[in-house]
Amino acid sequence: MDNASVEISFEFFPPQTEKGLENLDRAIDDLTVFKPDFFSVTYGAGGSTQEKTFDVVDRIGKSGFNVAPHISCIGATRTEMKSLLDRYLSDGIRRFVTLRGDLPSGMAQTGEFKFASDLVSFIRSEAASDIEVMVAAYPEYHPQARSPKEDLEHFRHKVSCGANRAITQYFFNADCYFHFVEQAQLVGVDVPIIPGVMPIDKFFQLARFSDSCGAEIPRWVRRKLEAYADDSSAIQEFGLEVVTNLCHRLLNGGAPGLHFYTMNKSEKTQAILKNLGIV
Ligand SMILES: Cc1cc2nc3c(=O)[nH]c(=O)nc-3n(C[C@H](O)[C@H](O)[C@H](O)COP(=O)(O)OP(=O)(O)OC[C@H]3O[C@@H](n4cnc5c(N)ncnc54)[C@H](O)[C@@H]3O)c2cc1C
Repeated sequence: MDNASVEISFEFFPPQTEKGLENLDRAIDDLTVFKPDFFSVTYGAGGSTQEKTFDVVDRIGKSGFNVAPHISCIGATRTEMKSLLDRYLSDGIRRFVTLRGDLPSGMAQTGEFKFASDLVSFIRSEAASDIEVMVAAYPEYHPQARSPKEDLEHFRHKVSCGANRAITQYFFNADCYFHFVEQAQLVGVDVPIIPGVMPIDKFFQLARFSDSCGAEIPRWVRRKLEAYADDSSAIQEFGLEVVTNLCHRLLNGGAPGLHFYTMNKSEKTQAILKNLGIV
């Protein structure tokens, strides 16, 4: 595959501080050279980052780049979702990453949407058909799923409600991605499934996050990263090698693109893309 033609997208989260916003601006500047298909901006469940997400989306949109806000529906009413959607549509936003989200522990589910598929159907009923709707996929299965079979069926159903493409949770084992894509195609899913890629930066942060979202760090990778202890340059060098090799395998095996969880930093993502010959 000619890596230069691969579709690339970058995910950011809305920063909480001015300093965070400066870092984000720098990351956006650095990453635009890769001519991404779009930048996406996360949205805190329960609307917790609503205004900040909106500001970052606006900032990126005004710079002339394609931007896809994430929208999570857990805890929201239809009226709230409609006004959020209308606000984005009136600003010319044409693509969305639609999610259920996770309520913070202790908060009861009071909203009118139970699953992301409800939000996909809602957007399809409220917005023009040229809107692009993206959904999440879990090659290692969603942590709350009762079984792989049920999770796959829920994914199939979510896509059938009107999604145009899916972006996966990150993973470090290419085989789970290829298996998931094959299984999804067997049950009739025919939209592109873009692998989500997490550059490796700080091991303990990655380990904590991976445990909570159900992404497995292969034992040999975990053991090596642990053994590097405080040697952050060794962690980053090894992490770069692991993630570059993963991306090579994904692209050589036919993955239609790569979606990077940048964590609002550009260096690791840039290094991976350069290793892949995507410049
Ligand atoms: C690319 C990507 C981006 C993300 N961005 C954000 C973000 O910006 N903000 C945020 O808060 N979170 C985000 N998340 C995290 C996501 O919200 C969580 O993983 C959440 O737990 C599930 O969201 P979902 O949209 O995949 O849910 P769903 O597709 O609704 O699935 C959630 C669970 O419910 C099950 N399920 C689905 N339908 C049914 C049904 N009909 N009956 C019974 N069970 C069912 C599924 O099997 C799964 O276990 C993101 C995740 C990914 C992969």
